[in-house]
Amino acid sequence: MIVDDMTATKVPLLDLKAHHKDIREELVAAVTRVLDSGAYILSDEVTKLEQGVAAYCGARFAIGVSSGTDALLAALMALDLKPGDEVVTTAFSFFATAGTIARTGAKPVFVDIEPASFNISPKAIEKAITPKTKCIVPVHLYGQSADMDPILAIAKARGVAVVEDAAQAIGARYLGGKQAGTMGQLGCLSFFPTKNLGAAGDAGMVLTNDPALAEKVRMIRVHGSQPKYYHKLVGGNFRIDSLQAAILNVKLPRLDRWTEARRANAARYASLFEKKGLGSKVSLPKAVWAGKGLTFDHIYHQFVLRVADRDALREHLTKAGIASEVYYPLPLHLQECFKGLGYKPGSLPESERAAKETIALPIYPELTGDQQAAVVDAITAFY
Ligand SMILES: *Cc1c(COP(=O)(O)O)cnc(C)c1O
Repeated sequence: MIVDDMTATKVPLLDLKAHHKDIREELVAAVTRVLDSGAYILSDEVTKLEQGVAAYCGARFAIGVSSGTDALLAALMALDLKPGDEVVTTAFSFFATAGTIARTGAKPVFVDIEPASFNISPKAIEKAITPKTKCIVPVHLYGQSADMDPILAIAKARGVAVVEDAAQAIGARYLGGKQAGTMGQLGCLSFFPTKNLGAAGDAGMVLTNDPALAEKVRMIRVHGSQPKYYHKLVGGNFRIDSLQAAILNVKLPRLDRWTEARRANAARYASLFEKKGLGSKVSLPKAVWAGKGLTFDHIYHQFVLRVADRDALREHLTKAGIASEVYYPLPLHLQECFKGLGYKPGSLPESERAAKETIALPIYPELTGDQQAAVVDAITAFY
């Protein structure tokens, strides 16, 4: 191991070695079991994971796929989107939300966010709907549900589908207790290693309560074939590896405990910041559904502050050995690949402001109180 005292990170953004420490033997046993079984594709491990995640999320069907991106792509493909169709989505998300829309040939129509939650604004969706709109893709950003009741009401009134990007929000609950990914026609999860439930590689899942859509996504996952070598439609290879499923089967029963640890860390940050009186410089993430009787109103996939002088603060933290990240520095409507859509700086001001003001702090379950105090002290020293 190389240790450089000047640059060694005291507080990393995530510590996957610590995360796997207590379950390492079980993980190795699971990997060995799959390796020795010779069944590497769509095996019993995959079925077990699909049943486990469906039960955990409260969805009727779950279809394991190769990544969160492929979950979105397969879900959108199941809606038969074609060139000329429009899909309304948030401008403030990871690229995959919009990239998959564009890959179906449909046109992403970007709308702005609500500044308190960073999630898509239902009012803005309403204004963006046209006769060409086929689908709305809300994202449950940072681990907190978008405001789904008005979104579902708009979708129903206009006869359009809802595909939820729940990649950051497994287990997060909305009013009434429904979970992220189970409220629209289709919901998409990611098991990218840094997500709250992470594989040791790429993996994802499509959720639905609709048996016909479940069947269609299962077909799309294997090149649209049923039976084998007879292709009803054009799909892709969107299969999840049995090895990843086996690893996720070890981790899923621990997910609630890890989520509780993230929530406890968020509460500890809040009380540490409160004592410092940085009110005018730092605003803490707002759990907009808190106090509504939900178990997991926010699962803190990320703990994101709005701050003054964001870039200078980030530099200061890096020098102090504290990792941070910006999710995301450029909103989707201003990305070069979407230049042809005609958006300009100023088109979606709240998304653009969020891109300039936000910074994510370490919030992973194994983060210690001492590490959190070091983070808050470093931020206080900067201001
Ligand atoms: C991670 C993520 C995805 C993509 O998931 P991958 O598994 O990395 O393909 C999609 N949308 C959002 C909001 C994400 O955070």
